[in-house]
Amino acid sequence: MLRIDFKRVLVAVLALVAAGTVNAQGARPAVKTPRIYVMDGGVLASETARYRLTDADVQEVSISVASFLIVHPKGVLMWDAGAVADHERGGDVGFDQRLVRRDGAERFVKLGKTLTSQLAAAGYKPSDVTHLALSHYHWDHTADANLFAGAQWLVQKVEHDAMFSADPPGGSRPETFSALKNAKTTLITTPDYDVFGDGTVVIKQAPGHTEGHSVLYVKLANTGGVLLSGDLYHYPAERTLHRLPTFEVSESQTEKSRATIETFLTQSHAQLWIQHDLANHRKLKKSPEFYD
Ligand SMILES: [Zn+2]
Repeated sequence: MLRIDFKRVLVAVLALVAAGTVNAQGARPAVKTPRIYVMDGGVLASETARYRLTDADVQEVSISVASFLIVHPKGVLMWDAGAVADHERGGDVGFDQRLVRRDGAERFVKLGKTLTSQLAAAGYKPSDVTHLALSHYHWDHTADANLFAGAQWLVQKVEHDAMFSADPPGGSRPETFSALKNAKTTLITTPDYDVFGDGTVVIKQAPGHTEGHSVLYVKLANTGGVLLSGDLYHYPAERTLHRLPTFEVSESQTEKSRATIETFLTQSHAQLWIQHDLANHRKLKKSPEFYD
């Protein structure tokens, strides 16, 4: 006679949950090492003069918008949240969406697919995301941040304070991250923050572009180290020609951060993915494909 020992089954299931191989919603792909899923947030119209460059210096004047889902055995981290929120889209892929920043400046984004659909392609819902980190508070990195208000928000303390000050930054859209005010929050005050405790996913302070701008290092088993730039650079030419954007919170801090990160890249042999570099972004595999 077949007898099922329910207690043993329960213990086994709980062990799987603890190991992160399944979540409360059911099965999600079990991973043994970290993965990066690249999400395409569309193409943002740009002006090279804002970066002290000319059109002749760059391969593409328009810049990409990217966000990244980092899947680790112990959790799921969303890095950046796009430029146009899924709920505010005025059209489908290819639609030119107009956005207005807090300071009144208007911007235009040619839409890609919704973030939610790209997460779903990888097998995830916004509620499966356990951790959220934004490279910084600018509008083109925060659009869907409110979708992840149930996650643990990992944020530099100085960035958090600027976001929720009485007079939020002009380059932000505070309505896109308002729900984070009540999120479970980790305020970071150290140069490095090791997200899952094993050194494979590390938020690194790189201030200057904003008060608490940061970049993300991910150590992948097959691809090797990858550094997600945030806005440390927008165009590769800023890196080769040593040009700074015209709108840094602190140019001297940005220069210092660039020097620190360049040293890290040399020592770690990590590759740099400049998130706004459209030419590189086009080449990257997109969700549901991934890097591991
Ligand atoms: Zn940006």
